[in-house]
Amino acid sequence: MSDLRTRFAPSPTGYIHVGNVRAALFPWLFARQQNGTFILRIEDTDQARFVEGATDLILDTLDWLGIDWNEGPRVGGAYGPYVQTERKDSYHQWAQKLIDKGLAYADPYTQEEVAAFREQSKAAKKAFLYRDYRPENPPAWDGTQPLRFKVKSPKRYTWNDPVMGELTAGPEALDDFILIKSDGLPTYNFAHIVDDAEMAITHVVRGLEYIPSIPKYLSLYEALDIEPPVLICLPHIMAPDGKKKLGKRDGAKSVNEYREEGYLPEAMLNFLASMGWNDGTEQEVFTRDELIEKFSWDRVQRSGARFDEQRLLWLNGQHIRLLELDDLYERVASFWPASAGQASEAYKKQILALVQDRLKTLRDLP
Ligand code: GLU
Repeated sequence: MSDLRTRFAPSPTGYIHVGNVRAALFPWLFARQQNGTFILRIEDTDQARFVEGATDLILDTLDWLGIDWNEGPRVGGAYGPYVQTERKDSYHQWAQKLIDKGLAYADPYTQEEVAAFREQSKAAKKAFLYRDYRPENPPAWDGTQPLRFKVKSPKRYTWNDPVMGELTAGPEALDDFILIKSDGLPTYNFAHIVDDAEMAITHVVRGLEYIPSIPKYLSLYEALDIEPPVLICLPHIMAPDGKKKLGKRDGAKSVNEYREEGYLPEAMLNFLASMGWNDGTEQEVFTRDELIEKFSWDRVQRSGARFDEQRLLWLNGQHIRLLELDDLYERVASFWPASAGQASEAYKKQILALVQDRLKTLRDLP
């Protein structure tokens, strides 16, 4: 195995819908291609958004898609635990390093005081930044106040994203952000940096919405003396109207719904990968192995790709045709109509051979 390590880090806040599964697919394809390691980590520090059972739902979905992980829940690994709420000690140790260096402080302010600071900035026609109101003598941190990062010398950062190209942001993007909340749990901003470092992640892949925060992460990497991994942001999948990011509200279904409707996991992978990526040829139908072989970051397009369910349907038909008859027989097991009753295997296979080319989904079988 190579040293390359990528990860998918979902939060257990519900099912994975088709718009966000690409953040698992692309780092997985890359890890498999490069003979690297793919890690799954559960980011459950936002207790207010926690949904019971969501972790299992996410793991089952990945299982069905064939996105397998080398380390993480259910399989273990040498860099565990892989669930953030079980990693509290790590976050507190790294926070202590920052406190010792004078780079973190207890936030003593009430909500009212912060609101007054905001008013002050507004009156001065300045963007509100916490660092403009740092307490001169913060109290010792006793774990009940939020712990804030003290951004030492706000400056311009430039970084290279293999998909988005060279990106840059100035000091205005840097502020004192919360590391540990008053409930003792870390924020995403802090936890993922600690975890990615401890888990030796070499490539971090996530959605475009994280770009504005990357300067903050770079300043924290610097404060912790951690060499940042390669940071990759993926463009959004857009709703069919092309105007906004595809979300659950636009009917972005869970991957499981497609499974129940008779879609094949390989068609789903092909569809998700080729939304916003191509291999530079006219090829549209890719097997799982071809995707692994041909995937490259420099062919991921920067603009959002439009979600087109008709294309998924077409691809599904193509992938059904590629199946060996025995394989197809296994997969349609739950889709026969009741009238197929006690028909023999041989007879059912004869039928399948006749209709295979016409099935768009397995549910078309009846
Ligand atoms: N837990 C974050 C989310 O679900 C993951 C972001 C990341 O991959 O770092 O959006």
